[in-house]
Amino acid sequence: EQMKAKLEGGRFRMINQTLYTSQGRDAFSLFQKEPVLFDVYHQGYRNQVEKWPENPLDIIINWIKKQPSSAIVADFGCGEARLADEVSAHRCAGFKHKRGPNGALNVYSFDLVARNRYITASDIAHVPLKNETVDIAVFCLSLMGTNVADFLKEAYRVLRPGGILKIAEVKSRFEKIATFVDDLKTAGFDVQGKDETNKMFVLFDCVKSERKPAKNTITLKPCI
Ligand code: SAH
Repeated sequence: EQMKAKLEGGRFRMINQTLYTSQGRDAFSLFQKEPVLFDVYHQGYRNQVEKWPENPLDIIINWIKKQPSSAIVADFGCGEARLADEVSAHRCAGFKHKRGPNGALNVYSFDLVARNRYITASDIAHVPLKNETVDIAVFCLSLMGTNVADFLKEAYRVLRPGGILKIAEVKSRFEKIATFVDDLKTAGFDVQGKDETNKMFVLFDCVKSERKPAKNTITLKPCI
């Protein structure tokens, strides 16, 4: 059992490194060819996050639960889609609303593999949503590829003007947090709040501005 756990830990680290050092589209073809990578990755991911004093996903879920149930949410790099599950359950409690055909209520979830009914398989640089149709876009520890700029460009495209962007990222990924805030500005987002109180991650609250995004070259350090 110990040996097995060690091997699985090793596989997790290898997949993790691949995700942080490749372009989104390459990660997408790799995972589509070998969907089991998703399961191995998430087994390891769960083990890791369990050790954290707080999971940023819970903070984001709790905030979304307080928003109107009509708010359209897009979860970029949703993992196992716990956000869609919990937010939809909350929105449907008391049977006031009905879930959509995939079980969600106004929540779209994207990841490399459609592991459950909530998830649409896609590279988060290109999601199947129309322009300016989303109220809340979420990247919870999912700005993993080398083309972070493309992911943010896609969020800008699908968000309506004034729409909200929530980002949680591991602290060690930032050279300087202020630089990332400037980069977000270039990408067309105004940072209205940031929370650095957690030991492991930083949370950013951003709003889609009226500005057209300029070409940006946002990069974050891989978390290996
Ligand atoms: N947001 C979830 C999962 C975080 S793990 C949570 O907080 O629990 C990061 C996720 O991002 C992984 O599931 C990984 O598959 C996904 N991801 C990374 N790059 C991606 C890409 N280019 N397209 C879609 N999903 C991606």
